Amino acid sequence: MNILILGSGGREHALAWAVMQNPKCDKLIVAPGNAGIAQIAECADLDIMNGGLVATFAEENAIDFVIVGPEAPLAAGVADRLREAGVLVFGPSAAAARLEASKSFTKEICDAAGAPTAGYARFTEAGPAKEYIRAQGAPIVIKADGLAAGKGVIVAMDEETALAAIDDMLGGAFGDAGAEVVIEEFMEGEEASLFVLVDGEDVLPIGSAQDHKRVGEGDTGPNTGGMGAYSPAPVLSAEVEARAMDEIVRPTMAEMARRGMPFQGVLYAGLMIRDGAPRLVEYNVRFGDPECQVLMMRLGAQAMDLMHAAAEGRLAEAQVNWSDDHAITVVMAANGYPGAYEKGTEIRGLDALPEDSRNMVFHAGTAMREGAVVATGGRVLNVTARGDTLREARDRVYAMVEAIDWPGGFCRGDIGWRAL
Ligand code: ATP
Repeated sequence: MNILILGSGGREHALAWAVMQNPKCDKLIVAPGNAGIAQIAECADLDIMNGGLVATFAEENAIDFVIVGPEAPLAAGVADRLREAGVLVFGPSAAAARLEASKSFTKEICDAAGAPTAGYARFTEAGPAKEYIRAQGAPIVIKADGLAAGKGVIVAMDEETALAAIDDMLGGAFGDAGAEVVIEEFMEGEEASLFVLVDGEDVLPIGSAQDHKRVGEGDTGPNTGGMGAYSPAPVLSAEVEARAMDEIVRPTMAEMARRGMPFQGVLYAGLMIRDGAPRLVEYNVRFGDPECQVLMMRLGAQAMDLMHAAAEGRLAEAQVNWSDDHAITVVMAANGYPGAYEKGTEIRGLDALPEDSRNMVFHAGTAMREGAVVATGGRVLNVTARGDTLREARDRVYAMVEAIDWPGGFCRGDIGWRAL
């Protein structure tokens, strides 16, 4: 099979790594890819937001199967264009991708499906929104309706912060994404993510994870794209997972199908769990980054077969071969991230890491310059390990971090603390 993966981050490096383990993969192209991906697959310069160009590229390169990594091309309808061109693709239609692209749409689907989530109201005008906040009181959560790169959510612990967020969002701070706001009840509990493959009809859970959003140890400091993750998440026990599948995932997927927009791809359910009861915080319509890295580490070669089964509508007969293992990934970021950071600093020592199939360094923001690996982004490397226990994986991951010589970067030293 000839495979094309769209994207350029650590998530796509992990997807490429898993696909390359599978003997059914004859050729792999990643567009646009990055310096780490280039070591294991062909990279192609392609505008992945342009569905027409991607479909032509797939035809010209005899691609049998396309895996879409990030949400932006999905929301832009790239999977639709590929399907119209007769190309098999893993990833939802633009209509189904609204589960991530519009928070009020997701709320409406949850209501119709009876799925537990935070109580809410939607507003396009500041006056009534503020009245609602005063009536509800704090803590309360204010969200821009559309895609805002993870920055459109304010968890307000006091009323003043909530009111200011309304002025910001409805005042245009997020452009069109903030033209409507969703105001939500504050949910208490522990957060975890559940990943589920969906083929339009059938569903297959493929693992859980917990991430670390804050830049500082002990979950302090500003929010980031994610500083590390581990899988499985102990809070998502078999019982809690079964409840999340029965009460949230299955009913919402059935509602999507009923509305004529069946979901196909990976559904990432962000859950808040309290006293064993899960409630939905958000849906994403793609793998998390860095959660994908730990899931791929655990699934290995079968990940490709499972994604292929989802794309072909064969999930009813698919199953995951689990080994009882744990994986952890630590994000190394450029000094200064998530604020202004330095680019172009050299990273040494990657070649000297011991070869071990349980250890991988996925590249998120790197380039090759005169034979050296240099940092080009904020989040740069995802140092990842798999072990029989989380502790074993954690110890190996930090030994790798120690061996990487990069004065221009830093990482959190406490990834996995909640589970350990
Ligand atoms: P992400 O970057 O995770 O995709 P997003 O912009 O899509 O973010 P959400 O996931 O909806 O936004 O919210 C971000 C974070 O805010 C959540 O991970 C959670 O910690 C917190 N949060 C969101 N909604 C609530 C809620 N109703 N109660 C408590 N905390 C919440």
